[in-house]
Amino acid sequence: MVKLIPGKRIADELCSRVATEAEIFRLARGQSPGLAVVLVGSDPASEIYVRRKVAECARAGISSFELRQDASIAEADLLDLVDKLNRDKSVHGILVQLPLPDHIHATKVLNAIHPQKDVDGFHPVNVGRLSTGTEGLVPCTPLGCMMLLDTVVTDLRGKHAVVIGKSNIVGKPIAMLLLERECTVTVTHIATRGLPEIVREADIVVAAAGAPALVRGDWVKPGAIVIDVGITRVRSKDGKARIVGDCVSAEMDHAAAVTPVPGGVGPMTIACLLSNTMRAARMAAT
Ligand code: NAD
Repeated sequence: MVKLIPGKRIADELCSRVATEAEIFRLARGQSPGLAVVLVGSDPASEIYVRRKVAECARAGISSFELRQDASIAEADLLDLVDKLNRDKSVHGILVQLPLPDHIHATKVLNAIHPQKDVDGFHPVNVGRLSTGTEGLVPCTPLGCMMLLDTVVTDLRGKHAVVIGKSNIVGKPIAMLLLERECTVTVTHIATRGLPEIVREADIVVAAAGAPALVRGDWVKPGAIVIDVGITRVRSKDGKARIVGDCVSAEMDHAAAVTPVPGGVGPMTIACLLSNTMRAARMAAT
């Protein structure tokens, strides 16, 4: 039987560690670490993500400030709000929930967040730090993937990692983190030719395409580790909604370890958000 990497349990452990650090911070500084979550409009999936993030903050002793804005907010007003949060000393981390409405230039808004409060790690300064191997805030999902990998591999050096997906928020930063650990990294995407053959070479497969059942069992070599980042909501024949990953988990028995979906990378993303907020609070305090 394949080993399932218990993302939920590992995320809970990280949240507990953050809770202890947050309490120590509060006792020493007289204030809790604070995270501002900006939600524009009422996208149902974003509502769920924001609710979860706020609930986990409360559990970890992190103050969260939920700033709900109407979908019609002008870009200039959203930039003003970010500027206000940048200057607010009770706010250590700022997260603008994506997607933003079409009339708002998302990159412009993300780039307006102060790099030291950029707990999503999307600001060009933090992207630059990641790509040069210097310390900065690292995007939560890639960070969580690395933590999961570290529970099943002792040394990543020299391993061949194939990343499926080249987005700025998942594929590229994961590739950077793997490179930093001296993996040999192949980044693939929608236009890649011969994807199954490339994946068959991998010691580590990171699937972040958002394409359900893309990675079949015969794409994965025996003993490989599979990190399934994909999250797609599908409806079963009985009409029930469920979440599936990019990999056909039932065909992965020959893999050394696989992350389940749900309960793998997802919980780690939120735990890493808390951890990044804690880091940002410490950075602000020094
Ligand atoms: P994206 O749409 O921005 O990027 C997808 C990437 O996958 C693109 O680079 C595209 O070229 C590539 N791709 C798409 N279909 C492909 C195919 N058939 N073959 C090869 N490459 C293909 O998506 P994203 O924001 O990077 O997210 C990717 C997936 O990860 C989504 O399912 C998303 O919901 C999920 N996600 C999960 C978490 C989490 O916490 N678990 C966090 C972020 C994103």
